[in-house]
This record gives sequence, C-alpha cells and structure tokens, in this order.
Amino acid sequence: MSEVRVRDLTVEYQTSAGRLPAVAAASLDLRAGEITGLVGESGSGKSTLALSLLNAVPAPGRIAAGSIEVAGVGDVVRLTGKQLRKVRGGELGYVFQASQNSLNPLKTIGKQLLDLGRSHEVADLRALLARAKDLADRMGMDGDRVLDSYQHELSGGMRQRIGIVFALVLNAKVLILDEPTTALDMLSQAAVLDIVRTVHDENRLSTLIITHDIGAISEIADRLAVMYGGRIVEDGPLLDVLRRPSHPYTKALIGATARITGDVDAARALPGRPPDLTTVARVGCVFRDRCPFAVAACAETEPELAVWDGDRRRACHVEPSTVLSGTPGAPAAV
Ligand code: ATP
Ligand code: MG
Repeated sequence: MSEVRVRDLTVEYQTSAGRLPAVAAASLDLRAGEITGLVGESGSGKSTLALSLLNAVPAPGRIAAGSIEVAGVGDVVRLTGKQLRKVRGGELGYVFQASQNSLNPLKTIGKQLLDLGRSHEVADLRALLARAKDLADRMGMDGDRVLDSYQHELSGGMRQRIGIVFALVLNAKVLILDEPTTALDMLSQAAVLDIVRTVHDENRLSTLIITHDIGAISEIADRLAVMYGGRIVEDGPLLDVLRRPSHPYTKALIGATARITGDVDAARALPGRPPDLTTVARVGCVFRDRCPFAVAACAETEPELAVWDGDRRRACHVEPSTVLSGTPGAPAAV
C-alpha cells in the first residue's frame, strides 16, 4: 500500500526567462515500510520535489499542477494554513537540505522540542522529551546533554542528527530526509542511516532519502528513483536498478560512481553538464544531448515514465535490452 502518491507534479520557479518547471509531471509512490532513495545530479529537482511533499515550495515558486495524496491526510497540495502546519512535522517528518542551520540560536534544543510538541498539541510533553533523548542517545550523542544545549554548543554533525530527532520525535508516518548526512564523516553517516533504518522499520514508515551518495543509500534503501532535468527517469527495487540500470542516465551514473567515489557529482564520466531550468530541453527527452543511445525520436517526443518489467519504470525511447547490453549507437547529432 502506498502511503504517499505523487501524481503529475509540476513545480515552477520564477526565472529571468519566466516561470519554468524544476519538477515536470513527476509521479512517485512512497510505500509503507519502504525506504526510497532519490538520486540525481545537482539541480535535477530533488529538493524541489521534497519541498512539494510538504507543500513548502518558497514563493514565488509554486506547485503548478498535480496532486500529492498522503494516506489519512488527503491531497497536501490543497492544504493551507493550520491544516498544513499540523501535517508538517506531524504526519510528515522532514529534514530539509542544510537544515543544521535552522535551529533557533536563542533556545536550548529541549525548549525547541517543547515548542514543537505544543504546536502539535502533544499531551505528554515529558514522554516527547524522553523519546527525543532516546533517539539522540541511539544516534551516538549524550541525549541529556544535547537537550540542555544551545545550537552553538553543537557541531554541524550533531545539529544534523538533531534535525533527524526532530523529524522522528512526533511519530511521523512519512519521513523526508534531504541530504541528511552531508555534514557527517563516513562512520557517523553509517550510524545515522542505520538508526533511520531501525526507526523506519519499528514504525513502518514511508521514507524518502535524497542523497548524492549512491553507495551510502544502497546500504539501506529498498527502492531507488533517479531524477534528471526535473523528471524521474527511472525507478524500481534498489538492487535490481543497480544491477540492471535500464535508463542511459542511470547507467552512466552508476558506472561513474562505481569507478570513482560514490558521489553523484563526481560522475565526470558523463560528458557535458546537467541542465538548469533555462537550458533543459523543452521538446523531446531532457537527457538526449548527453545520451550515447539517443535515436531520432528522442529529439521529437518526451518519453513517458512507463512500467517495463514488473515493478520497474523507465522514461526512454530506446529498447531496455539495448541499454542493458550497453551497445550505444552513434551519438545523436543534437
Ligand atoms: P542539489 O543536489 O544541488 O541539492 P536539487 O536536485 O535538490 O540539487 P533543486 O534545488 O530542486 O535541485 O533545484 C532544481 C532547479 O530549480 C535548479 O535548476 C535550481 O537552480 C532551480 N531552483 C531551485 N530553487 C529555486 C528558486 N527558489 N528560484 C529559482 N530557481 C530555483
Ligand atoms: Mg537539493
């Protein structure tokens, strides 16, 4: 069963060239009990998608089309005001990118947890603090000390972990983590992802983790979704996608990261640069000018994200077998 159903989501930002989509007609399910990893180069629209799940795209950006149905909540796109504030941080736990800087410098972490509890009308605030302490302890911190600390007394890595404590402490059903471990060293990163997996399993959450690090996510995710130029170009069960990438972009990304460091942006084996809102193709496939498999149709119509093998989807005009067997034709002249 899907806890979250994103359908035909289009999100636009204001640019010098007018309103342009950072996410274009994206559809994605987050299923109960599953962790979905979302990867793609910088600017592909991952954070915009994550913000949309909370209907928190900053103005003048806006959700221009589509729906985001969350079980027990309804269409988040249609929520406003108080309803939205209740859902954010309540049913939908989240850590936004770079949110280690979003704590209040004037209040201790414990006070901020109490504020969070009160704003969500939590009856037992003592239990809330106990749960936060326990989560902090399990993430390798001294929970009591952390709750008594101010933000400036904590390292970037600790602030990042506290962000995850905030996301989990209200018993969210859906967890959205945007680059949750970037400030952490490898060991702490593994420890934090481990506790995320444990809490996810204990509560049968639906979790989305955005990352540049395919290596780290492959340790804990069940599914993998790949974004390029505002589109989800491929998704499916994680191991299956890693072993048999069926979209040329996924294939290049995985090939490149396997050779280098695990960092998506180190994927230099891909010639060219990822597009931004003003340079992304408006007609045809958004990946075609970097695609070694491109055929004539790729310049004419945009491929739809379609089911092709049981539980997998891909948006590509080229036959899966051609991409899988790795024999690209001549690079397209586009
Ligand atoms: P990163 O990996 O660097 O975090 P991302 O995949 O999260 O990248 P987004 O932050 O969602 O990408 O950005 C998608 C596109 O939208 C980019 O081209 C970005 O420049 C553009 N963009 C993001 N925020 C805004 C904004 N507030 N106004 C205008 N354009 C924006
Ligand atoms: Mg981002």
